[in-house]
Amino acid sequence: MRPIQMVDTRSQYLKIKKEVDEAVLEVMGSSAFINGPAVQAFAKNLENYLQTRHVIPCANGTDALQIALMALGLQPGDEVMTPSFTFIATTEVVALLQLKPVFVEVDKQTFCIDIDDLEKKITPQTKAIIPVHLYGQAANMEAIMKLADKHGIAVIEDNAQAIGADFIFGDGTKRKTGTIGHIGCTSFYPSKNLGAFGDGGAICTDDDALAAKMRMIANHGQSKRYYHDTVGCNSRLDSIQAAILNIKLQHLDAYNQARQAVAHFYNQSFLGQDKLTVPFTAPFATHVYHQYTLILNDVDRDALIAYLGEKGVPAMIYYPVAGHQQKMFEQFKIGQQNLPVTDWLTSRVVSLPIHTEMDEAQLQWITQSVLEFINQ
Ligand SMILES: *Cc1c(COP(=O)(O)O)cnc(C)c1O
Repeated sequence: MRPIQMVDTRSQYLKIKKEVDEAVLEVMGSSAFINGPAVQAFAKNLENYLQTRHVIPCANGTDALQIALMALGLQPGDEVMTPSFTFIATTEVVALLQLKPVFVEVDKQTFCIDIDDLEKKITPQTKAIIPVHLYGQAANMEAIMKLADKHGIAVIEDNAQAIGADFIFGDGTKRKTGTIGHIGCTSFYPSKNLGAFGDGGAICTDDDALAAKMRMIANHGQSKRYYHDTVGCNSRLDSIQAAILNIKLQHLDAYNQARQAVAHFYNQSFLGQDKLTVPFTAPFATHVYHQYTLILNDVDRDALIAYLGEKGVPAMIYYPVAGHQQKMFEQFKIGQQNLPVTDWLTSRVVSLPIHTEMDEAQLQWITQSVLEFINQ
C-alpha cells in the first residue's frame, strides 16, 4: 500500500506534470513574472468558472479577506461577525484592521455559522458578516443574505475551503459559493481544493465599484502609476502560480468529485456506528470535502489519533482552539464569550485523510483502523 498522507499534492502533480511544466517554463521564458498574461488569463477563467463579474487575484487567502474588509471603509470599533470555529485568518484580519470581531456560534450539523445566534448578535454597530464554508460545506447563504439585506450589513464569504461547491437556493437556482455575498475570498494554498505550488488567493465580486476599490487596495492604493489615492497593500498572485492554477482549474470539478467519492466511501464504512457522526450534507449545497471531519461520541480522541498514527494513518484536529479561546483576542475581552457548541466541537472533531489521489486499499486500511479502535 502507498503511504497515507493527509494530502498528496505530489501524486496529483505527476498526473498533470507535462502541462504544468510547460506552462511554468513558458512564464520563465517570457519573464513576465508579475501580472503577466497568465495572471490575466487566470482571472478571466475563474470569472467564467464562478460566473462572477470580477476576480481579483492576490497573494493569499488572508490578504483576500483583509482587502475585502478594507474596501468596505469601516471605522475602528465597527463590529464584524464571524464564526469562532474557523481557521484563525478569518478573525485575525478583523482585529488587524482595528475592527471588533464578534464571534458567532456554529451549527452542530454544518459546522457553519448559526443563523439564530447571528441574528441575536446583530447590533447597530454590525457592519459585516464573514461566513466560512468550513470543510467544504457551505453556510446557509440564503438565510444570511436575507438577514444582511434587512439590516444593511455587508457579507464577505470565506470560500477558502469550498471553491467549486454549488449553493442551491430554495427555488432551485444554483450559484457557486463565494459569489453569493457582496464579496467572496478564496485561497490557493497548496492543500486547498484548488491549490497552487506556493501561496495565492483571489477575491470576487459582482459589484463594479467594490472591484475597482479592491484592485486599487491590492496595488498600494494606486489609481494610476505613482498616484496613490488610498492606503493599500501589496498583494499579487505571481505569474508562475497563475499559470499552474490555469491548468488545475480545468480539473477542479474532477478533483472535487474525487473528494466526494472518498467521503462516500467513509460514510458507507461508518454507517450505523454510534460513536461516529459523519459529515452532514445540507440540502442547500454540494459538499466539496476540503476536510472529512467526524464528530466523536464518547471516544478518547487523543488515543484514537495515537492508535491511527501507529497504523500509519495521519489524522488531524481542525481546529483544536477556537477563535474566542485564542490568546490573540484577549485584548478584546471576548475570551469569556459563551459558545458551547463551538467548544463542544473543538473537543470532539477529528479529520481523516482526504484528497484526490486516494486508492481503495488506503481507504480500506483507514476505515478498518478507525473501526478497530472504536469497537475494541
Ligand atoms: C486557508 C484559509 C484561509 C487563509 O488562506 P491563506 O492563503 O493561507 O492565507 C482563510 N480562511 C480559511 C477558512 C482557510 O481555510
